[in-house]
Amino acid sequence: MKIPVYLDNHSTTALDPRVLDAMLPYFTEKFGNAASRNHCFGWEAEAAVDEAREQISRLVRASSPKEIIFTSGATESDNLAIKGVAEAYKEKGNHIITCVTEHRAVLDNCKVLERRGYGVTYLPVDVHGLLDIERLCAAITERTILISIMAANNEIGTIHPVKEIGRIAKQRGIVFHCDGAQAVGKILMDVEEMGVDLLSISAHKMYGPKGVGALYVRSKRPKVRLNPIIDGGGHERGLRSGTLNVPGIVGFGKACEIAGRELSEETSRLIDLREGLKNGILSRLDEVYVNGHPAQRLPGNMNISFAYVEGESLLMALKDIALSSGSACTSASLEPSHVLRALGLEENLVHSSIRFGLGRFNTAEEVDYTVDRMVEEVSRLRKLSPLYESARREMRRRQPRDLKAEQVS
Ligand SMILES: *Cc1c(COP(=O)(O)O)cnc(C)c1O
Repeated sequence: MKIPVYLDNHSTTALDPRVLDAMLPYFTEKFGNAASRNHCFGWEAEAAVDEAREQISRLVRASSPKEIIFTSGATESDNLAIKGVAEAYKEKGNHIITCVTEHRAVLDNCKVLERRGYGVTYLPVDVHGLLDIERLCAAITERTILISIMAANNEIGTIHPVKEIGRIAKQRGIVFHCDGAQAVGKILMDVEEMGVDLLSISAHKMYGPKGVGALYVRSKRPKVRLNPIIDGGGHERGLRSGTLNVPGIVGFGKACEIAGRELSEETSRLIDLREGLKNGILSRLDEVYVNGHPAQRLPGNMNISFAYVEGESLLMALKDIALSSGSACTSASLEPSHVLRALGLEENLVHSSIRFGLGRFNTAEEVDYTVDRMVEEVSRLRKLSPLYESARREMRRRQPRDLKAEQVS
């Protein structure tokens, strides 16, 4: 086993070696510009881009490869989807519905649009991070032009009822954008069956390269209108100008092909690892709480609050394992997790939370090692915590027998 162990697969994933092999020729001898129409260098690059478009559209079950627009990643795809719809449909209305637990790439776009005169409804979630379909219905007005709800959450792994949302959006004639950065390649995403009109995808979250992604844009039933946010040259049907990142796109396509082929096998393997991790920790430590939905969650995601321990101190002590915490300082933002707060978690438990992101290259041995190390460091830090000691005493006094039952609830 190699130290450090990488358990932060929601932040990014390692490039699959098969993806690298597919990309390499496009850095060297196959260096053509896919927009060069007059020679074989251009044709070769264009053919490679076309194949990748096929591979990606097949993974998300798009009806045509033409519906895939290449971008620099899910952040750009979210920008194009949200700003693009807001601009294209402004004659129809100015109201957008999203959710408080969305990624910053969605929330920050909505904030910008609020300053431009749009109204945004931020739907709340329940304790498991699920949105309430009835509240979604109630939030819709005559002026609603866009519903933007992610498929799976990047912190707590909760999977929203995407198909239900798609059905409602279709009934009311509203465009449905779904941020699929954590979901595509991890769970089955079918834009036709789910009624998704716009789907953001990122290659580096699914063992592809960084700096490349796509926006699926529905072309019929109904055709979605979109204003570009980047102009110049008219690439990608005018929706995203700029010379295509051919090696990146080839890698992205390969990553989709592999994900589609191995999805069901990988899912059961990751669920086994995840349950091993969870059960190992829960059986050996008290005062630990699972965040997110117990069942409706990403196969590779586990998020746990270790009460009476600072997540940041824990990460400092665990330099041999790459993890994320719900506190500030670990991400680009300075705020503690808005997602964990939205679950109604008390502030201490937000700061005590650790996100485990399991992926393709993790092993059972690494999970066992992680459980041992968590138990070791959490126990050590708690010994230094007078709060933990007095809480233990209090619990023993109150319910000596029910201690275990209390932890589970
Ligand atoms: C990672 C992520 C993004 C941003 O993707 P990039 O390709 O890194 O720009 C957007 N949304 C979600 C849910 C993510 O997990």
